[in-house]
Amino acid sequence: MINEPGPHAVPRNAHTPPTIPTVTKTDRQTTTPHTDDNSFLIRDVRIFDGVQVTGTGSVLVLEGRITEIGIIAEVPALPEYDGTGKTVLPGLIDCHTHSLYGRPRTDRRDALRFGVTTELDLHGDPAVLAAARRQRRSLERTDQADLWSAGIGVAVPGGTPPNYPGLPHPPRLAPDANPEQFVTDRIHEGSDFIKVFLDGGSVWGQPTPTPTRKQVHAVVAAAHRRGLMVIAHATEHDYAALAIAAGVDGLAHTILTPIDDDLIADIVEGGAFVTATLSSFDGGLGARDLYRDPRVRPYLSETQTTALTTSGEDPDLYHRGSLNVRRLHAAGVPIFAGADSGVGAETEGAHGATMMAELSHLVAAGLTPTEVLTAATAAPAQRYQLADRGRIVTDMRADLVLVNGDPTVGVTAIRDIATIWKNGYVIDRTPN
Ligand SMILES: [Zn+2]
Repeated sequence: MINEPGPHAVPRNAHTPPTIPTVTKTDRQTTTPHTDDNSFLIRDVRIFDGVQVTGTGSVLVLEGRITEIGIIAEVPALPEYDGTGKTVLPGLIDCHTHSLYGRPRTDRRDALRFGVTTELDLHGDPAVLAAARRQRRSLERTDQADLWSAGIGVAVPGGTPPNYPGLPHPPRLAPDANPEQFVTDRIHEGSDFIKVFLDGGSVWGQPTPTPTRKQVHAVVAAAHRRGLMVIAHATEHDYAALAIAAGVDGLAHTILTPIDDDLIADIVEGGAFVTATLSSFDGGLGARDLYRDPRVRPYLSETQTTALTTSGEDPDLYHRGSLNVRRLHAAGVPIFAGADSGVGAETEGAHGATMMAELSHLVAAGLTPTEVLTAATAAPAQRYQLADRGRIVTDMRADLVLVNGDPTVGVTAIRDIATIWKNGYVIDRTPN
């Protein structure tokens, strides 16, 4: 449901000079709601700033940026949204997605319609990177989530990930190849960080080749020399230990085999984060729940519906993965929210929608709702150095989600979306 601006909305020209006319409550005019602009005011709203609820007040957005928060004395003549009983949050950051080769380009539109305003791609099509970079620097109107991406992940021939049927095969790190050159090629393609796949296949009962220890160390060293983070897919204890010993910055999934205290201590000491992606191992539990939810289902695209109705995985993995998230979180490891959407396999999640399930899974794994929301906003923004988003503070771009209720008390309130703004522009959420 679109939350239309209140009766006090006044049209405002996009090219109004910087001096904003202000009006008092008594002389504000009543006119047709005007949403064709990226300046507005949310009134009397509970504000979750990315870290905590800072109170109830107003949020003023001018020309796509947050300019004032709290009690705003001089109110410009702008469209207004009544925030009574609602919570405003920073747009969500999905820390694990894929925009694979040759797929229809609707994924980031699907994401945005569920409040995911930024996606961090961990193995995807490098052809989209230049345009993605331009888009995320701009405050132009867009119907797509912004994208940061690893581009092509570092994987060996015959290893994880598989080559998806019908899609072009990305280059692989051959045994005799120079890992540093492989990283350099990715940087030239526009990769923002480096993904490395270390999956021995024991979880899936299918042994698969992985990069060697030496290759992983060389990849991490090359990336770090160039100032890029490295995120490892390593869902088995020994490969996670190898990745952490090599100095990776984060793990792309929770670990799915039993882990010991030594590994947890090493992860803590190494400062790595873990993007849990529990929804990709939940046996379709989250997908079925979302598909039944009247707050979710009417807004699903065809692609999202397909993803949510074909998900499946061994539920034992979910329980092991969730237990490991609980232990890692208790030890102080930063946990980030990511849905692993769009992997092109039968277990893929739905861009945007699956984040709703992921947030619930993180609560089930022992994070408080507030911690979960931080794991989807301020925490990854800080770690990935996304300086203009993830918080509701002045000067941030107005990527905002307004929801009914209080998701810091019950996180499923995030599904009850009233309005989404990207760069200050309202996103069309007409049900499909
Ligand atoms: Zn993935």
